[in-house]
Amino acid sequence: MEKGLNIRGKRVVVVGLGRSGSAAALWLSKRGAVVTVSDLRPASDFPSDALQEIRDAGILLELGGHAADTFLHADWIVLSPGVPPEIEPIRSARNRGISVFGEMELACRLLDIPMAGVTGTNGKSTVTALLGEMLRNRGERVFVGGNIGTPLMDLVTGRRAYDRGVIEVSSFQLDTMESFQPEVSVILNVSPDHLDRYQDYEAYVQSKLRIFRHQRPGDAVVLNDDDPRLQKVEPAGHLRVLRYGVEEAPHRAAWIGEGRVIARLPDAGPVSFSLAGFALPGEHNRENLMAAVLAAMAMGAGRDAVQKGIDRFRGLPHRLEFVGRAKGVAFYDDSKATNVDAAARAVESFEQPLVLIAGGRHKGGDYGPLVRAARGRVKGAVFLGEARRLLAEAFDGAVPYRIAGTMDEAVSESIAQAGPGDVILLAPACSSFDMFQDYAHRGRAFSEAARRFMDGDEEA
Ligand code: ADP
Repeated sequence: MEKGLNIRGKRVVVVGLGRSGSAAALWLSKRGAVVTVSDLRPASDFPSDALQEIRDAGILLELGGHAADTFLHADWIVLSPGVPPEIEPIRSARNRGISVFGEMELACRLLDIPMAGVTGTNGKSTVTALLGEMLRNRGERVFVGGNIGTPLMDLVTGRRAYDRGVIEVSSFQLDTMESFQPEVSVILNVSPDHLDRYQDYEAYVQSKLRIFRHQRPGDAVVLNDDDPRLQKVEPAGHLRVLRYGVEEAPHRAAWIGEGRVIARLPDAGPVSFSLAGFALPGEHNRENLMAAVLAAMAMGAGRDAVQKGIDRFRGLPHRLEFVGRAKGVAFYDDSKATNVDAAARAVESFEQPLVLIAGGRHKGGDYGPLVRAARGRVKGAVFLGEARRLLAEAFDGAVPYRIAGTMDEAVSESIAQAGPGDVILLAPACSSFDMFQDYAHRGRAFSEAARRFMDGDEEA
């Protein structure tokens, strides 16, 4: 499954000695590249057997800092996931014309299997997993990974063979990718996010649109036609554009009608799928489903494989995940709602009165859409973390709120405000790094606090 990329004799610097960096270094070295691994962390930060394995392969190690000279004498520089491409000495090397590849870019240059690429502000992991499930149902060996989960280089360096890849791609990865040519690309939505890292909203949008830039004639682009910015996107004429939206329209390839998804690919009759067994709540998940259905069909999946995917997929942890119920109050963990749009969509997913727990590290942007979604739905809110004051200001006069210092306190406060039939929803609209290691850690803190309350209920 390797494409022709001449590796032998190339001087390669791999930046970052994590799991994927060391796998890439070993793999490149085995194929005749002269490899150096550079990491800012000192040798004492790494297990000695891992360092020994690298040395035994004849790979040079430069730890405890980046040596500018090594970078300037490289043929290629390969960045591990998470290494910012703009740091010195990577920037100087790039200015000298040295090729700088992200690990995904390198993998794309080496891989020759059909791939689907999924990007968007929200829903990437959900759609990637769901699409992977649909394609597996027709008996294919499908690699599911990318941005979150298994790095794409594992597809190259690992022992298992795959027929197809379903790859989640973030805007940051798209910024440094030149060779990604997915057979099907999917853009789910572009709502303001990461405004702390992009110049403005439009720069962020442009970065997402890079996903279809290198697609070949006949490849498909799946676009959310309910997203006002994506409506205006016109991919090149040689691509098959498949648009989806909740309402039927002549130019749309998928929509929702009478509890079913109806999909109509060009030159084919409509096919419909039952939603009766679809487990994920909220309209945004029906949008996600349409994206996955179109992408699967564009890759040739049949009706049964797609319907099985719809019926069997149970969703991912920390994405509107049902935690449990006590004294008639249901707890939902949407810790992955790290931006305003995801949190607003979560709030809109419930018919029941809500108590909302939000807050964390502010990422720039406006909480207005969350306040609008909350009006009439959220009976009380609890704010925590660095953004608590900004949230309180935004919600002032719209929804009664409390401030909490810890997640335990936030859960107790929310229980005090909730009654039978209500939902307590964690949908932070912020990142987690002010108080937690990541969103999963925050989600666990929430569900553990909720479970303590539930245990108390059992005893009662
Ligand atoms: P990503 O990988 O893009 O972060 P996830 O599937 O992990 O996407 O979901 C991230 C958050 O966005 C979760 O809170 C989820 O409930 C919410 N979400 C999922 N799909 C959508 C969508 N289409 N629009 C808005 N929010 C969504």
